[in-house]
Amino acid sequence: MNVETLIHAGWVIPVEPEGVLVRHSIAVDAGRIVAILPTDSARAEYRTENEVDLPGHALIPGLINAHTHAAMSLMRGLADDLPLMEWLKGHIWPAEARWVSPEFVRDGSQLAMAEMLRSGTTCFNDMYFFPDEVAKQAKHAGVRAVVGLIVIDFPTAWAESADEYLHKALEVHDSLRNDTLVTTAFAPHAPYTVSDGPLERVATYAEELDIPIHIHLHETADEISDSVQQFGMRPIERLERLGLISPRLLAVHMTQLTQDEIEQIAAGGAHVANCPESNLKLANGFCPTAKLLDAGVNTALGTDGAASNNDLDMFSEMRTGALLAKGVAGDASVVPAAAALRMATLSGARALGLDGVTGSLEPGKAADIVAVRLDDIETSPVYHPLSQLVYAAGRDQVTDVWVAGRRVLREGELTTIDIEALRARTAEWRKKLGEFD
Ligand SMILES: [Zn+2]
Repeated sequence: MNVETLIHAGWVIPVEPEGVLVRHSIAVDAGRIVAILPTDSARAEYRTENEVDLPGHALIPGLINAHTHAAMSLMRGLADDLPLMEWLKGHIWPAEARWVSPEFVRDGSQLAMAEMLRSGTTCFNDMYFFPDEVAKQAKHAGVRAVVGLIVIDFPTAWAESADEYLHKALEVHDSLRNDTLVTTAFAPHAPYTVSDGPLERVATYAEELDIPIHIHLHETADEISDSVQQFGMRPIERLERLGLISPRLLAVHMTQLTQDEIEQIAAGGAHVANCPESNLKLANGFCPTAKLLDAGVNTALGTDGAASNNDLDMFSEMRTGALLAKGVAGDASVVPAAAALRMATLSGARALGLDGVTGSLEPGKAADIVAVRLDDIETSPVYHPLSQLVYAAGRDQVTDVWVAGRRVLREGELTTIDIEALRARTAEWRKKLGEFD
């Protein structure tokens, strides 16, 4: 049988089912995985013009960054070593008020997409202004994206009022209705920046459009105490009353949780995106990953924006997430390597309603595939490929990436983004934002 592409690898780690296949191959056709089988059989059964031999590599599902603000890559390192509110109010919001525009989002998103693709991330869940521009850039770069239909109480260059944010949200959603690579989620920024009325309307519209709701939630201790003061209840309680705790909800951060709230989230079927490095850098606390997993909560991983991380590296997020979960639980057995990889792939897909499409290497799913070189000095010898991936490998060991069967990274070179042009535009923004700073 003829197929578009045939990739032979030392190891294939499909995530579902859990485990490692030795000397296996993936046959890809029309953007999808056709078969995963031993290399000898693959060579006998399939013919292709496009044969890729990677005997020292592991093939894994494309990583899924469950929470980011792609365009904020242009603010990487603009203001560091500050607590969340000082960082937001003193630096990020003023810079955004001055500079955010379609051009800013175009260049910032492209910078983020280049970094993510080179790091093995094939899908990201975004929250930012001008989601129409993010969608355009994602299609151009060939990366899978869930663009956030942002809603926030204050006026920005994107919209003036709750009505306008919601109106534009519906417009962007409509324009992407038939897109297979780019989908949408409502993205009300946080309980402390969106009032009850717009939150209720988000819940209603999300139900009508059948899309997720992506929100920062229980990020800091101050967020909780401010909410108790202003509304007489904790943010989760408030969202529950507004009808937002449901399987549509992807709650980001969740560093401040009581056992009752963990059970409430589990009972509501909501998902969590843990961003361990952002939480550490802003000293916001720790997401209780082991307790969430124990309670049956689907828990994914995200980087957050590059302004608070300061990279979009899902390899380091996987490692930090696993190590931190162990440290917080006081138990080395929680979040083993396979669970960490699952959080960075299939759990993210599930949280975004994309688990029928991506998140694991299975016949019928989109060919979102990442090749990671494991025969490097840094990951030798290979006893357990899964352990090497999570505890030893770095993103620089990613050599090839396919999204929906399209090879967007070929032997370390991006095929869809002009790096030199991007570098020049990024330097221009550095001059502008640097002057402002
Ligand atoms: Zn965030």
